[in-house]
Amino acid sequence: MTANLLDYDLDGLAAFCERLGEKRFRAMQLFRWIHQKGASNFDDMSDLAKSLREKLKTTACVTPLTVLQQHISTDGTIKWLFDVEGGNAIEAVFIPEVDRGTLCVSSQAGCAVACRFCSTGHQGFSRNLTSGEIVAQLWFAEHFLRQYLGRSDRVISNVVMMGMGEPLQNYSALVPALRVMLDDHAYGLSRRRVTVSTSGVVPMIDRLGQDCPVALAVSLHASNDVLRDELVPLNRKYPIAELLRACLRYLKVAPRDFITFEYCMLDGVNDSAIHATELVSLVRTAHAGVWCKFNLIPFNPFPESGLTRSPHSVVLAFAKVLSDAGIVTTIRKTRGDDIDAACGQLAGDVKDRTDVQKRMNKRRTIPILAEMAMVPHGKEDSVND
Ligand code: SAH
Ligand code: SF4
Repeated sequence: MTANLLDYDLDGLAAFCERLGEKRFRAMQLFRWIHQKGASNFDDMSDLAKSLREKLKTTACVTPLTVLQQHISTDGTIKWLFDVEGGNAIEAVFIPEVDRGTLCVSSQAGCAVACRFCSTGHQGFSRNLTSGEIVAQLWFAEHFLRQYLGRSDRVISNVVMMGMGEPLQNYSALVPALRVMLDDHAYGLSRRRVTVSTSGVVPMIDRLGQDCPVALAVSLHASNDVLRDELVPLNRKYPIAELLRACLRYLKVAPRDFITFEYCMLDGVNDSAIHATELVSLVRTAHAGVWCKFNLIPFNPFPESGLTRSPHSVVLAFAKVLSDAGIVTTIRKTRGDDIDAACGQLAGDVKDRTDVQKRMNKRRTIPILAEMAMVPHGKEDSVND
């Protein structure tokens, strides 16, 4: 069986090269060809010895994902649907902004956490992506975009693990993929421009802090355990207090960072002034202050959820309570409306062995990260700056 080199971080590739009798230096060259130049054909890698290229042809490959669909919005947002075999599809979305280019990346086909407001969660879990499949989303998007936009420099400056799936429930594939993103011989993204978003897998937050302390976003969505138990079932295992303690520990290993709390605004469910006040005391008082900002997400509705989006005036009032308490608060702006990029409508057909037909019509949600700074308080005005 040939090895897909997209699966390897630099250490992994060096170990692979060593098995071929090659030095680490060769792995570095190979790594650069693949990730910096977007090469997938070993014959194109002109500064590698012919003997090595021949060896690679029989032992390795650079296998991208197959693009099933591509949608380009009038606002420049691009959404790709990738085939990950076995009837599964995942999405990645590119969001261009004046000062950055953000790629929203998937970590799993489906998701086992089953949050009430999330279409992916309603679809159930299909399988974990491999490191190579996570990296392949960035590999494809970066090199496609350079060509498409006629650019030779880097297009994607930020990655957010906010597509389909719970990244911290696919930890062993996630970490090598993050290392590829950060590696100067590959994409060279700064640690603060790569964000892992989690529904709160506490032990893995600790491990991430040790292994690869990138920016952390925590999907909070509720101001007390009764409500969060309902919205994010993982809360029954790791309740809010435990989650916030994990956030504090994370900030110890990632000093000068802050946690972004994501909060999906659900009409009449979690959007009252009482909830906002409760949140303030959670992050300010009860736990000695988590250095954080809040990102309020307008809910992207789908019929099976039985939920609706909070009116904008309610979102503004909610934001005001937080910002009046001195908490930096942004409201996420949706992008790519004309291609349904805010609703991830392409990747609904995740294969479900228990109820395929029902889920055929389901659609998943992919949130878009373009943010509207609400009430900046002089600190970082966005998670990905
Ligand atoms: N599983 C991870 C990352 C993927 S979801 C997590 O939950 O954090 C990324 C973000 O999209 C999360 O904050 C999630 O709560 C939010 N989200 C999910 N469904 C949504 C919907 N229908 N409308 C708006 N945001 C949603
Ligand atoms: Fe999974 Fe995140 Fe959706 Fe919850 S919000 S079901 S954790 S993808």
